Amino acid sequence: MIQEILTGTENTELRQRSEEVRTVDKSIRMLIADMEETLLSTDIGIGLAAPQIGVHKRVILITLYRDVPGREDPEEKILVMINPVIEQFSLETVVMEEGCLSLPDYYAEVERSESIVVRFLDRKGRPQKLALSGLHAREVQHEIDHLDGILFADKVLKKKEEGKQYA
Ligand SMILES: [Zn+2]
Repeated sequence: MIQEILTGTENTELRQRSEEVRTVDKSIRMLIADMEETLLSTDIGIGLAAPQIGVHKRVILITLYRDVPGREDPEEKILVMINPVIEQFSLETVVMEEGCLSLPDYYAEVERSESIVVRFLDRKGRPQKLALSGLHAREVQHEIDHLDGILFADKVLKKKEEGKQYA
């Protein structure tokens, strides 16, 4: 079911630390299905974290643009990561403009590692490890921040406001 996406830098739901998933059971599978439907319904979203729909569990979705070597299911267009942990951050960083479904009409530049190694459970609960770079690495860093109650607005180097200020 499509869920409402929570918004606002002062929204307390978006400021909590989400809990680890203990078992990938039916409730988690339903959460993932809701998150996929919600993400696809947005047109512009490229990733989503469970707290954005008010569920404080460590689950994120990442839309894949290009193939990532080492994936369990190469057909999967949306990568599900449960309990994701970044094991390695590249020293090389990149500054790029970001947006967020929880901060509509707000875009600004954020500096992040260019590549990462991330460990997680896939949608079937199997342990996985992937090396990601470029946009995919950025997406994962952005979504994991959501799990820790951090919004990209907290990390902005230089504000770039277009039209209305975010609320
Ligand atoms: Zn976001």
